[in-house]
Amino acid sequence: MSEIPIRNYSEILSRLKNSLEGAGKWVHVGDVTGSTSSHPIEKIVFGEGNEKRVLISAGIHGDEPAGVETICSFIERKECQKFLQDWEMTVVPCINPFGYESNTRSNHEDMDLNRKFKTPSPPIEVALAQKLFISPFDLTIELHEDVDSSGYYFFHSSLDDVQSALIPAILNNVKTVMPINLDSEIDGMSASEGVIERSGLDEDMDWWPMAFYSLSKGTRTCLTLETATRFPMQTRVTAHLKAIETALDFFDKK
Ligand SMILES: [Zn+2]
Repeated sequence: MSEIPIRNYSEILSRLKNSLEGAGKWVHVGDVTGSTSSHPIEKIVFGEGNEKRVLISAGIHGDEPAGVETICSFIERKECQKFLQDWEMTVVPCINPFGYESNTRSNHEDMDLNRKFKTPSPPIEVALAQKLFISPFDLTIELHEDVDSSGYYFFHSSLDDVQSALIPAILNNVKTVMPINLDSEIDGMSASEGVIERSGLDEDMDWWPMAFYSLSKGTRTCLTLETATRFPMQTRVTAHLKAIETALDFFDKK
């Protein structure tokens, strides 16, 4: 693909670098190289060594910039710092930089990366994302947005039910900013009060999204958060921030 870039990934990295002020460890994960350009994949680790571990990622679908913007806000506004007593936080601002720059869901090879986590030889972006799972996370949060949705919803996958208090807490806090999508079916999947339960790892599935790979690596709870694109960017970002902060506040390590 050779779309003309409409967004600049290096600007995102500069914003994040400029806002760190010594906090957080910047780690180069690897490079995504296409025929005409190459993009670094970076992660930032805050509170290294803390007991609870969370991975927050965005931009696996390039045409969903609200997640990337949420990560910038989370770090620029120092919102992340109040959680660093308890959490080691790994943040990946954008998994699919080519898609982000060209505003395409897929990468430069026209692959939907969030369908490739069970593929034996995955695309480089997925291979780099898989490298993040060196040791198990307690919680992984993936940030998405949905152009068709009337409101906020999320996928919840957990290997235990200890974190069930998370679900109403997130919904209650998010709905102060954006309505919840209350449809009984969202994107062809059965939903209840804005939540699509994927109760565990589906070994029989032909393909895995990142959340299933995450479960397979020992993550206890995965949240795939979907903000609704029909709302202004700032509202989409605020809704995501509410959900992230609620999850970090409520998560109770067992
Ligand atoms: Zn998405």
